[in-house]
Amino acid sequence: MKILTLATIATMLAISLSCAAESESPAAPAVRIYVFENGFIRGLDTKLFNLAREDVKEPDFVNSSYLIVHPSGTLQFDSGGIPDSQFKGDGALVTEGVQSAQKPLLPQLAAAGYKPTDITYFALSHYHSDHTGNANAFAGATWITQKAERDFMFSEKPEGIIQPATYSALKGSIMRILNNEDLDVFGDGTVRLISAPGHTPGHQVLLVRLPKRGPVLLAGDLYHYPEERARGILPTFEFNAEQSKAARAKVEALIKETGAELWIEHDMATHAKLPKSPAYVE
Ligand SMILES: [Zn+2]
Repeated sequence: MKILTLATIATMLAISLSCAAESESPAAPAVRIYVFENGFIRGLDTKLFNLAREDVKEPDFVNSSYLIVHPSGTLQFDSGGIPDSQFKGDGALVTEGVQSAQKPLLPQLAAAGYKPTDITYFALSHYHSDHTGNANAFAGATWITQKAERDFMFSEKPEGIIQPATYSALKGSIMRILNNEDLDVFGDGTVRLISAPGHTPGHQVLLVRLPKRGPVLLAGDLYHYPEERARGILPTFEFNAEQSKAARAKVEALIKETGAELWIEHDMATHAKLPKSPAYVE
């Protein structure tokens, strides 16, 4: 009897020790972000953003998109503004209205080691044409979209800053449709799509918990200039300004709660400090 008890204690001790060992060295998911360079937007009138020229340090925008790699799959967030088909492969600057770029997107994706067919999920921060340039290339992925955004994109005659031809193939994609909801993309809390409507009907941002750098929030166009955030100013062309205010309050609370670093997608200074693909942020 005594021996049995000792054996039981030994077993329990072994189990508790092995549990302790596991909790001390958790297999941290190797989440990483590749940052792609999709050119610039120059010559914008800052008044469109309810800001005077002198209110803004840097009036021009950078254009960027991101690949989030997770052990269970990948998520491409946004897709640049100028479709890859516009590039001639000679490195020359391609200009489309206020947008210009020297590098197509898919070769940058390839440099990171991925083809569009490797991509598990595709999500747009929103449907404006400076974000949908190469959306069609990702039609084979599962498209994660807010219902209000999809409904507007595929409405009879969508109007505004929109180029339906750049995303038309998404109509046939497998979709994960959200109804003003957030989504824990891979189910472990590391990559969370956050509903933040107002700029467009189904605008969304992305919270990524990186193992080394910590949480970062990819803000889409929740803000364009850091000064919009600092001064609490909304652009003139919000789809629904009241929703934008609520979305900003929600995201600011999330930033406070998580300590996340804010990446404003068009902000030149934020973008300049980040490593670009094939380097990555982890
Ligand atoms: Zn934009």
